[in-house]
Amino acid sequence: MAKHQMKAQVIEAFNSPYVIKDVPKPEIEDENEVLLKLHAAGYCHTDGMMCSGQCKPDPPKFPHINSHEIAGEIVALHSKPSKYAQEYNIGERVISTGRPFHPCGKCFECLDTTRPGYDDGYSIVCPHCSFNGMSKDGGFAEYVVVDARQVARIPNNVKATDAAPLSCAGITIYGALKKAALQPGQRVAIIGAGGGLGHLGLRFADAMGYRTIGVDAADGPLDLARSLGTKADIVDARTTKVEELKTRLGQEDGKSVREEMGVDAAVILVENQKGFDFGFDLVKNHGPCVVVSYAEAGFRISSRDLVYRDIRVVGTILGSIKMLQEMMDLVAKNDIRPVTTVLPFEKLNELVEEYNKGKGGKFVVEMALQCQ
Ligand SMILES: [Zn+2]
Ligand SMILES: [Zn+2]
Repeated sequence: MAKHQMKAQVIEAFNSPYVIKDVPKPEIEDENEVLLKLHAAGYCHTDGMMCSGQCKPDPPKFPHINSHEIAGEIVALHSKPSKYAQEYNIGERVISTGRPFHPCGKCFECLDTTRPGYDDGYSIVCPHCSFNGMSKDGGFAEYVVVDARQVARIPNNVKATDAAPLSCAGITIYGALKKAALQPGQRVAIIGAGGGLGHLGLRFADAMGYRTIGVDAADGPLDLARSLGTKADIVDARTTKVEELKTRLGQEDGKSVREEMGVDAAVILVENQKGFDFGFDLVKNHGPCVVVSYAEAGFRISSRDLVYRDIRVVGTILGSIKMLQEMMDLVAKNDIRPVTTVLPFEKLNELVEEYNKGKGGKFVVEMALQCQ
């Protein structure tokens, strides 16, 4: 192949499969940029939404390269790298969150460093940044240019295929647990515990010392959640009523007053009202209900509970780069791994089919894997 070309899995229209094409190899144009040679790239729920036209105005053009769950090796830096890019060396393995690419560092979001998770001076919700895999090309390719302010090192004992999903699913659920601001020994409920984010949440919550209730409502995800061997109490929401569960937890905690029974925080990963209600009702008075999922029709919230029980509903998205590295260190120390389905790069369409079957865990293409 020509020196300035590379192979990429592209989408050329909405609702059409990925196609392998030779496209121009991206080049570094800015002091903050680093060029990665891909080792692995994850397929996320958002990629599926984009392929069916639900993320307009993204992608800005066709053909487009998806994937913001990127793991690769740094192969080039700018000739005069910024202080952020100088932190890295050629050959280092990193993950990239896919966002934010080129945060401005000057807007009200970037300048507000007082909120946890937004403390880097370049915000993950900067309105001027762009997003790998979304508003610019992503990781389903041999090479991708990312921003040095959006990467974290992959510890030596972590494989690229395990690291890639952590850059989106991992940091999202880790950030949600951090937002719940619990102390070790407190209780957290993860609603949607057997999914791509949920199963990682069960493992993180163990490592963070929380007592966890993992809730799901389908056989596959429940099996996956139970198979992880975490300390979490896995609950089938189809057969367990919130009130029964609250009573049981209250008894275990030696509480006799209803308002004191339940969990200290709930993390909502599902998009249905029933699941939201399960978590919302299970939270003790004054507890946070951390919402990660974005249900298209939104959620109906009981103002009575908001007012009389002082339940706080808070949203969360990703986390700071500092938090990303902290998560990677926790992963390495506690041997936390996502459950993955891994296929060769060439078999991305088959991977999407597997994802659409509703099997739990995360879905990743590996560049070095050969087709059988
Ligand atoms: Zn994602
Ligand atoms: Zn900004």
